Order: sequence, then structure tokens, then C-alpha cells
Amino acid sequence: MVEFPLTGEQLALDLLNTRPHLGGEPVDLLATPEGLREWLAVQSDRLSAPPDTEVVREVVFAARELAAAAVAALRQGQVPPTEVLPGLTELQRAAPVHQELSWDGGVVVRRVRSGSAAQRVGAELAEAVAELIAGPVAGVRECESEDCVLLFLPAHPRRRWCSAQRCGNRARVARYYQRHKG
Ligand SMILES: [Zn+2]
Repeated sequence: MVEFPLTGEQLALDLLNTRPHLGGEPVDLLATPEGLREWLAVQSDRLSAPPDTEVVREVVFAARELAAAAVAALRQGQVPPTEVLPGLTELQRAAPVHQELSWDGGVVVRRVRSGSAAQRVGAELAEAVAELIAGPVAGVRECESEDCVLLFLPAHPRRRWCSAQRCGNRARVARYYQRHKG
């Protein structure tokens, strides 16, 4: 079982949060086949994944690299590196979307992506990254805990931690010992 410290943010942030610091060390939770498979399972309601999840490894990593570069630049008010925006466009162009119309007592519209399984996942992730970086990226915060790099979009302006359980409590305990030492 791979534990993902923070999921349920925007898909692009969940993707970036697969590289947390654990015990002060940067780790890649998608590095193993189990990690990748379990992350795709966690995201299954908003990301399609083939039975053999290894076929999407390359595009997942490519999308994550592009997302990391774009978000890092934009959070500092800088222009993303030149290859980033074309890269995200390219990933989506590989698996374009069309509407499939059918009749079931009324017109039914289904959004269908062409392309291979890997191309579809790459396009889905690139679209999610585009939604973030063309939208609310300026509001993305990094957890305030010293050795935590997890990113989130606070629904509440006072949110300071990735999660209360993971970092909020730790900070409270640290403050407690700070006050009571000596
Ligand atoms: Zn945290």
C-alpha cells in the first residue's frame, strides 16, 4: 500500500503532490509500478487508466514535469520555460476530444477522446494542468510546515497546512513543546 499524503485537490496538484518530502527526504510515490497503479486508482473518477498502468508511465511523468515547471514559474510571477506550454498543447493534441451524440429519448452527448490509452491519459492530465495554470494558479499555496512541499488551493483563506492530521497537528505539538520547554 502506497500512502498518498494529500489527494482530492485539483488533479494537477494531486499530480504534483506525488513528490512529497517524507522524513525530510524528497520521494517519488509514482516511481514503483504499485505506486503508479494505486495513484491512478485513487484518481479513477477523473482519469482513465488502462489495465496495464505501466503503458502510461511515460506520459504521466512528462505531464508532471511540465506541470512542475509551469506552476513553479507562475507562482513566482515568471513566464514558464519555453518548452512548457507547447508541451502541454502537444499532449492534448495527441488525443483530441469530440462529442459522440446518440438518441435515448433525447439527445445524449458523450465526451470521447481518441488516441491510445497513454495518449488519452496524457491529454487528460495536460488539460487538468492547463485548467490550473490558466486559472487559479496564483492562489496555490505550499504547506507551511518546514519540511513539507505539498501544494493546495485553499477553499478557506486561513488554511495553512496540507492537512491538519499530517502537518497541522505536528505544528501544534511543536509549539506546545516550544512553550513548555525548560
Ligand atoms: Zn504539509
